[in-house]
Amino acid sequence: DKTLNIIGGGMAGSEAAWQAANAGLKVVIHEMRPKVETFAHRTGNLGEMVCSNSFRSDDHEQNAVGLLHWEMMQADGLIMHTAHKHRLPAGGALAVDRDPFAESVTAALKAHSNISVSYEEITALPESGNWIIATGPLTSGALAEAIQAETSAEALAFFDAIAPIVYHESINMDVAWMQSRYDKGETEAERTAYLNCPMTKAQYEAFIDALLDAEKTEFKEGETAGYFDGCLPIEVMAERGRETLRFGPMKPVGLTNAHDPQNKPYAVVQLRRDNALGTLYNIVGFQTKMKYGAQKAVFKMIPGLEDAEFARLGGIHRNTFINSPTLLDDQMRLRSRPNIRFAGQITGVEGYVESAAMGLLAGRMAVAEMTGRSLAPVPNTTAMGALVTHITGGAEAKTFQPMNVNFGLFPPLDGVKSGRRGRKERYKAYTDRAKADWQAWLGQTMLDAAE
Ligand code: FAD
Repeated sequence: DKTLNIIGGGMAGSEAAWQAANAGLKVVIHEMRPKVETFAHRTGNLGEMVCSNSFRSDDHEQNAVGLLHWEMMQADGLIMHTAHKHRLPAGGALAVDRDPFAESVTAALKAHSNISVSYEEITALPESGNWIIATGPLTSGALAEAIQAETSAEALAFFDAIAPIVYHESINMDVAWMQSRYDKGETEAERTAYLNCPMTKAQYEAFIDALLDAEKTEFKEGETAGYFDGCLPIEVMAERGRETLRFGPMKPVGLTNAHDPQNKPYAVVQLRRDNALGTLYNIVGFQTKMKYGAQKAVFKMIPGLEDAEFARLGGIHRNTFINSPTLLDDQMRLRSRPNIRFAGQITGVEGYVESAAMGLLAGRMAVAEMTGRSLAPVPNTTAMGALVTHITGGAEAKTFQPMNVNFGLFPPLDGVKSGRRGRKERYKAYTDRAKADWQAWLGQTMLDAAE
């Protein structure tokens, strides 16, 4: 059977269908809307944007998400091509006219001779055939339960609790120091997995005041069910008592300030290495509903983070996603049922663009497999490759949380200046390298197809 079945016609499912159908496969998209609704979608369109109408930066020389746009354009991506067609003036960002955009995506898919759309909710894991699950952050309850039954309770989350992530190079190591609590850890890598930022009493008190005063985002109606099972936002902990954080994620015990061993810090903010490359550090336990601007201001009060650059800011959202590093192989297949691939936000990427990108890749991987060809791994020097490598292996499985594409996921370049000053040249070098490698990878896959 050469039919590819795709559950979910959102950003990822639409893109996967387009890629597979263009390569000659018959595709059926199973989409539950408009029959079954979610709290965020408003229409029955495929490719509906649930919130902001922006695909973020379109700058493919200095920005990792812009680079992902570029890579998808090169690969004849439906979401990106349609977005550019319905572009609204928005400076460097790719903002679109949302309804015409989604109507256009829907029309293109429906007009394709290899694609049909079946409007139904899928409630169980398919036993046979070739499938992609791209049901997104608001996967229906029945299907989420079926995925959970297959994978285990810990392997499927209903909320993300996103702690902010800082670029290592932007941390002031004259203030911060590396040490694991009580110097625990067997290996050198484990002992250097943590970075610590010390606070005096005055700094701690000012920090608590700032947390309490900061502007917060509200949960959407219908979003909060089950939320307190997850982690508390840092500001909610602070509301419970001024000392709560000092006895929680900011406890100073088991640590000695390497720059000032005589003085015991009053509180310590701990950051944990977030990727194997050591380019990203996660502010452990600092999930938050503070607005992005407020987060930057408040977190820069942490000694050592005065000039911090954030790869990801914190958040807490309703979000169904699986523990991809443990559950998926490098072809995005469920290890326990290789006839099923996952794509989109449910794999633990974050955002419209990243979700569409993982749909593009899953579609191409399905084509290769179903037509008996091998597909070279996507180079991790490309935005696409950096992202898929992160979710299927590079990320820390135990603390896996959704990820945006960012340059911290890219392997460092030899001979390029590090630090803030060299950033512009470095990003250009990253994007130049990525473009060459992406073109070569695409060329390779097209050669295979022609054989
Ligand atoms: P979706 O686009 O959600 O598509 C999944 C599709 O699967 C849906 O059409 C759904 O109806 C369908 N489906 C679900 N379960 C079933 C089932 N059992 N059977 C059949 N069909 C099913 N990202 C941004 O970049 N910017 C934002 O501003 C933004 N705001 C967001 C706001 C909210 C409230 C939420 C929940 C998410 C937001 N996101 C945002 C993340 C955004 O949802 C994703 O980035 C993107 O839409 C995910 O693409 P996807 O294809 O994985 O999922």
